[in-house]
Parts: sequence; structure tokens; C-alpha cells
Amino acid sequence: MPTPPEPISSIAGLLRRLESHYGKQEPLWPTDPYLFLVWWYCGYPASDATCARGWELLKREIGTEPRQILAASPKDLAHALKPGGMVPELRAMRLKELAARIQDEFGGDLRSALIRPLAQARKILKSFRSIADPGADRILLFAGIAPLPAVASNCPHVLVRILHGHERDNYGVTYREAQEAIAAEVPAKVDARIRAYLQLKRHGQELCKRKPKCDQCPISRSCAYFAGKHRGRGARA
Ligand code: SF4
Repeated sequence: MPTPPEPISSIAGLLRRLESHYGKQEPLWPTDPYLFLVWWYCGYPASDATCARGWELLKREIGTEPRQILAASPKDLAHALKPGGMVPELRAMRLKELAARIQDEFGGDLRSALIRPLAQARKILKSFRSIADPGADRILLFAGIAPLPAVASNCPHVLVRILHGHERDNYGVTYREAQEAIAAEVPAKVDARIRAYLQLKRHGQELCKRKPKCDQCPISRSCAYFAGKHRGRGARA
């Protein structure tokens, strides 16, 4: 019988084991801030799959530059966005708004406008529709502008389960605890934090889902949730 892996005591160790299980992860979305916003509006409800479907047809039929989006008719834009899911007409309007703002307010270069104190950069990003703090942090991290401890908005529970046993009832608290854990242990470097974001996201999508598949998990021996379950209850710090 194979020897079970040793428990891991640090987030760096957890990430190493996740990486040896899933392999190196790459972002599935554009990392330029403007292009990320275009991609984000390509799907609804927004997910990697819906956004990618809308994005592909938009690129092929219209293009992603502000001038191309502004030149397209609302009907053609909505048609290109249709594979991305619901309300393509509304998303077409959002793309037009975005393209107009990028040209008029930012001279066609959103990335350069974000090179400023963090609070101001976040404020700019949050002025775009559907972008709250998690989205703003994700954009700034993946664009290489600031090494923020961003956490995938659909997976903050992963790290909190591992460290504390259960995600909290309040999403905002779970999100903050995941960010604090990354800020405390993952070096404040863009590459290191992107790696943490992508590995924890992948784990949340594959195994540590709402209903986790703990029996297949490569880090179960280091997980407080798993330990609590095997004592007959989930641990809670
Ligand atoms: S053991 Fe279960 S709860 Fe813990 S990280 Fe793995 S899948 Fe998630």
C-alpha cells in the first residue's frame, strides 16, 4: 500500500502540491485591463466558459479594439456576443459604453491610466459596470500593476476550508480571510500571487467545489475541513 503524503504546514507547500497535481496554470483570459473588461462582458452569467465563447466570435466578427466596437452596429455586436449566454443586447451596449469611455476618458490606454496610487486605480476600475473589489484586484494583479493578494471570486472558500475547516456564513468574511492568508504567506510578487490565484481557482473548480471531492484531494492530509469531517464535524477556528 503506498505511503500517504506528509501533511503540509505552509501555503507554499500546499501550492507546490497543487501544482504537481494540476500542472502549471495559465490565465484563460486577456491580462490587459481593457481587453479583460471586453472579455468579461462577453459572457453572462460571466464564467471562463461563457466569456470565452462570446470573446471568440467577437474577435472573429467585429474585433476587440475600441474603434471596431464603436463602428459595429448594436445588432451585429449582440449577434457576436450571443454564444456568451444571456442578454447579448445589454452586453453589446456595455461594450459600446466601455469602448467610448476608453477612447474619450483614457485616450485609448486604460493600462497607463491605472499606474497610480492603488486607491485611485481601484476607483477607476470600480467605475466600470460589474467590477467590484475582487474584479479590480484581479485586473491589477494579472496586468502586473500591483502584486495584490487577489482571490478568484467563486473560490475563496478553498483556502479557508484548508486553514479553518469551514468557509464562513458571510461571503465577504470568507473572501477577506482568504486574502489575508495569501497576503501573510505568499511573497508580494506578481508571479507568486498569480500562481496562488490560479492554483486555488483550479482546485476550487475541480475538487474543492461546493460539495468537495475530498476522497480525491491531493492535500486532504493538510486540510482542517477534512480533519473535522473525519472527527465527525467540520472544524471552525
Ligand atoms: S480535503 Fe476536501 S475540503 Fe479540503 S481542500 Fe481537499 S477537497 Fe477541499
